[in-house]
Amino acid sequence: MDFALLAEAFDKMTRTSSRTELTSILVEVFKKTPTELVSRVSYLTQGKLFPDFMGIEIGMAEKTAAKAIEKAYGADPKKVQELMRRHGDLGDVAAELSVSKEQRSLSSGKLTVEEVYKTMEEIAKTSGSGSSQTKLGMLSRLLNSASSLEAKFLVRFVTGKLRLGVADFTVLDALSLRFTGSKEAREKLEHAYNLTSDLGYVADLLARHGLTVVEKVEVTAGKPVRPMLAERMQSAEEIINQMNGVASAEYKLDGERVQAHKTLEGSVTLFSRRLEIITEQYSDVIPALTSLPAKQFIVEGEVVAISSAGKYLPFQELMHRRRKYELEAAQKEYPVVLNLFDVLLVEKESMINQSYEARRVRLEKLFEKAKTKHNIMLVPASTVRDSTQIDSLMEESLAAGCEGLVVKDLQSSYKAGARGYAWIKFKPEYRPNVRDTIDLVIVGANHGMGRRAGVYGAFLLAAYDEAVDIFRTTTKVGTGFSDLDLEKISKALDEHKIAEKSPRVDARVNSEVWFEPKMVIEIIASEITLSPIYSAGLGLVRPGAGFALRFPKFTGKIRDDKAPEDATTVQELLEMYHKQIRQLEKGKEETPSANPS
Ligand code: ATP
Repeated sequence: MDFALLAEAFDKMTRTSSRTELTSILVEVFKKTPTELVSRVSYLTQGKLFPDFMGIEIGMAEKTAAKAIEKAYGADPKKVQELMRRHGDLGDVAAELSVSKEQRSLSSGKLTVEEVYKTMEEIAKTSGSGSSQTKLGMLSRLLNSASSLEAKFLVRFVTGKLRLGVADFTVLDALSLRFTGSKEAREKLEHAYNLTSDLGYVADLLARHGLTVVEKVEVTAGKPVRPMLAERMQSAEEIINQMNGVASAEYKLDGERVQAHKTLEGSVTLFSRRLEIITEQYSDVIPALTSLPAKQFIVEGEVVAISSAGKYLPFQELMHRRRKYELEAAQKEYPVVLNLFDVLLVEKESMINQSYEARRVRLEKLFEKAKTKHNIMLVPASTVRDSTQIDSLMEESLAAGCEGLVVKDLQSSYKAGARGYAWIKFKPEYRPNVRDTIDLVIVGANHGMGRRAGVYGAFLLAAYDEAVDIFRTTTKVGTGFSDLDLEKISKALDEHKIAEKSPRVDARVNSEVWFEPKMVIEIIASEITLSPIYSAGLGLVRPGAGFALRFPKFTGKIRDDKAPEDATTVQELLEMYHKQIRQLEKGKEETPSANPS
């Protein structure tokens, strides 16, 4: 398959932000893709070579890519730098330089998708001393045979800046249309994807064997399952009603979610909530997990930092584990416990379709027989039948240093990748009149002034609009940040800086700097209001107005355990807005009039 075909499609994709259009461009691409390449093309359109959980990134440094460009086109480094300043994008620089080269020689061979993928794979897997020189050579050889358009996308790809705005679900829609003729199979594809988190794998199965085989996909040790998520509710009464009078209440621990997989080879891998490998960070829980009595399993839990007295500590304490170096010292200094709350696979038996009750019994059995329980525990769970029981467990959990409760439907299966009322999170913040936390994506920033010069001072934040896969702005925040926070956030954001607003961002306000929607931070606000300048939920409550936040403040939590698509959604903002109105009205009814007539 000619790489030119893909480069042309990529080019079209960069010119649209319409999801329908993106889908039809992808359908056309899949029509021209030979069966054996469907999985590779699926990954490539997402700027990847493998599913995220494999942890293999191409990530060539811009400097190395610039050198490859100089080498391929015999260009002067100064010229490359000057073009970079002009375009702000190394792909465009390569495209421009390659035009003059194309005029000089027409000897370039045709690049194929196979060849590009293979070289990219080699680049990704080359490491160690002298590797940047080797990588540079490989890229420059590809550039030598590339057209101007191909060069542009090759460079964007290796530097991790492809940015086509193609979400997983757009690829699933396109696959469904291409291989079944309608979007109806999308749900089945999504299910298989939720169980395996591997788009290329699902695409390959569909292309080679058809939908009936995709429907048989099961959870597999080694392939992370997309996590089941909780809805929120504000009172114990509401929760027990929703649960029809009986449920299991578990402590909501304030740590990091972990999915642990043991494969038949005997090794245990830990995946984060975003399904990235974090085994090393928490390697101190591995021996106990390995000792669970099963040759293969998938269990879930929350890793929490604990004090020397064995008390749960807040989420921030886990940050010490993010260090790349001196991890061993951090492990000693900041001990953690993995608190298990679910089991999705034991031996060959998938537990996904079993009830919570059955899964919990299985988990308890597994845990009881662990040879060592050092650093692992079971999350405390109690059956509740009325709101007073929920309220008193809530007090207990807060006293133990937890965030609140997750109340779970006893009969519910494990709903991979879905947020629903089978799990309800209940935090004190959700109680009436107390402020709620919201996770938003940073899409823009203004430069700081005075003491904050040199870093960003205020951030433009967006909520996720799931229906159309777009990030819509809802507030600017500049308070709650320590100097260290600003430094850290600014440094991390610089990697995602882009010349113009991303096509995946919808904003009605301007920003000095724009970013790819990547980084999620936690915000607290006193109220959700309506404003004409924000685009989240525009027109949902009042024509011409979207949701804005009153007194927004950073809580100190950078949610790097959340992908941008896991941020608070526009729909959730709408629900919070309605809840707030209901509370206000209830408050008015309950407050006796000051001047009874
Ligand atoms: P939050 O921002 O409140 O942490 P979230 O968006 O990360 O929530 P939710 O599904 O909304 O995820 O809330 C459940 C989260 O709470 C889980 O992802 C997990 O990390 C954490 N958690 C803590 N204790 C439990 C528990 N007992 N059962 C399930 N999840 C738990």
